[in-house]
Amino acid sequence: MHEITARQGPRTGSFEFDEPQLRLICHDLVKKINQKFKNKEIPNFKAKLKALSPIDGKQHIFNFRVKFIPDENEYFNNAAATWHNMYQEIMVTVPSQFIWEQFTDSEHEQQYYRNIRHELTHAFDIQGNKNSHNGVILSTHTTPEELNKYYNDPAEVKAYLSQVHADIENEIRKNRFAIVGKRPEQVLELSQTWQVLKDKWQNNPKVFKMFLRAAFDIIQAYHS
Ligand SMILES: [Zn+2]
Repeated sequence: MHEITARQGPRTGSFEFDEPQLRLICHDLVKKINQKFKNKEIPNFKAKLKALSPIDGKQHIFNFRVKFIPDENEYFNNAAATWHNMYQEIMVTVPSQFIWEQFTDSEHEQQYYRNIRHELTHAFDIQGNKNSHNGVILSTHTTPEELNKYYNDPAEVKAYLSQVHADIENEIRKNRFAIVGKRPEQVLELSQTWQVLKDKWQNNPKVFKMFLRAAFDIIQAYHS
């Protein structure tokens, strides 16, 4: 069983996960999915994850469910994941349109990394705060108002902060000079998540500032 630990960022309150642990989980996940493909099996399986919560300091067991999504759904066309509070479960989806042989592509591993980190934030958040938002399942029926509410929900903001953080860390891992000499707003641009979603927070200065602060923290941590 994999184990994951996290700590809470001092200024943004977002969770910082143990990078090598989380990378290993995603690597093994993609490896296992590929193994299923190789054996001509549908990649539906379950696993458990032992997690040390930074909020209550206790061990929790989360379920990990990998599910093959045969139908095309615009919100599941990536290596996506969703958190289900009722089952204490992270559901990881494998969309059917993947060319199976290409699944080892590190891009997919990074997609899982980003998404699992987002969902783990919900998992840890809810462990400590039972009244917290349960996560919204996006679908093609979601209205613009609902989307706006979703992206600006404090629990989602926290999860996206973690995701953006993961993207930037990945860029630094690939090129250790990636953030050198850059301002926070330029550092944010390194994140694919930010590039795609920043418009959602454009009219919310408070949230926008949180992202800038997170980028500033990354810069400071890098130089210390
Ligand atoms: Zn979320």
